[in-house]
Amino acid sequence: MNKHIILSDFYKSIFNCKVYKIALDAGCTCPNRDGTKAFGGCIFCSQNGSGDFVPNKILPIKEQVLEAIEKVQKKAKGRSGNNDVKYIAYFQNFTNTYGDYDDLEKKYKESLSCKDVKGLAIATRPDCINTEILNKIKCISEEYFVQIELGLQSSNDKTGILINRQYTTAEYDYAVKLIKEVCPKVHLVTHVILGLPSETENDMLETIRHIDIINRRYLANNDLYGIKITNLYVLKNTKLETLYLQNKYNPLEKEEYYSLLKKCLSVLSNNTVIHRITGDPPKKSIVAPLWCTDKKRVLNEINKFLK
Ligand code: SF4
Repeated sequence: MNKHIILSDFYKSIFNCKVYKIALDAGCTCPNRDGTKAFGGCIFCSQNGSGDFVPNKILPIKEQVLEAIEKVQKKAKGRSGNNDVKYIAYFQNFTNTYGDYDDLEKKYKESLSCKDVKGLAIATRPDCINTEILNKIKCISEEYFVQIELGLQSSNDKTGILINRQYTTAEYDYAVKLIKEVCPKVHLVTHVILGLPSETENDMLETIRHIDIINRRYLANNDLYGIKITNLYVLKNTKLETLYLQNKYNPLEKEEYYSLLKKCLSVLSNNTVIHRITGDPPKKSIVAPLWCTDKKRVLNEINKFLK
């Protein structure tokens, strides 16, 4: 197995303490849902814009941060070694570089003005990356850790059409180039989904190879990039649910996913930061597969399997 970097080690090397990401809602929408590109979004996207753990109502950012930190502290209570903790404000759901750029910048900065928030993670789409928003992010990244998370899911454009993502892999490649040119300090993370409709093992491995080549092309020496891998799961009230109920889509079995994941990790270069190797679907809206709802058990099993 190649030597990849575990996320907690990566954050520790930057912050020198335990770091939690807190999910926030910037009140954005997505060009794939508001009609700019399409209506309805990607076939797997939930009503919450693929951010099912953000607060239910849109509060001012500072209040969201305080609420989220309180929740983390409650959960961590009683565990030893959690005295020195910092947070990354994670703008997770919908497209967090899409909207009024001044307003977005204000929200990014507001989160960073909160006590113990030391970094920013911004989830977005490749076609919503441009120099205007990147120039604002660049200024922030001079002072704080900033992570931009780009959806790709698959490098196969035919799959892209099937899942209705409404951007091409060439747009992803260009976004990576632009981000590294304008914001060289930003840590770039790409989202991948295994088990997309009609995808073969070869398609999935090709996606990982593609991400590796493109990211390494634009990285400065010793710089790192990150990857998030998950299995595709079916949520209620999505187009994928309709396909699943019509027997037109079968999710990966657990063993299939573990085996594919292992192969994917083996084609990634050394020193890639692994941000995620499993999904974390909301229990109240998962339809299938149910094996992925117990994240803790899945992670334990994957770790054993990888060893
Ligand atoms: S890009 Fe993200 S928010 Fe937009 S439709 Fe697709 S999954 Fe949903």
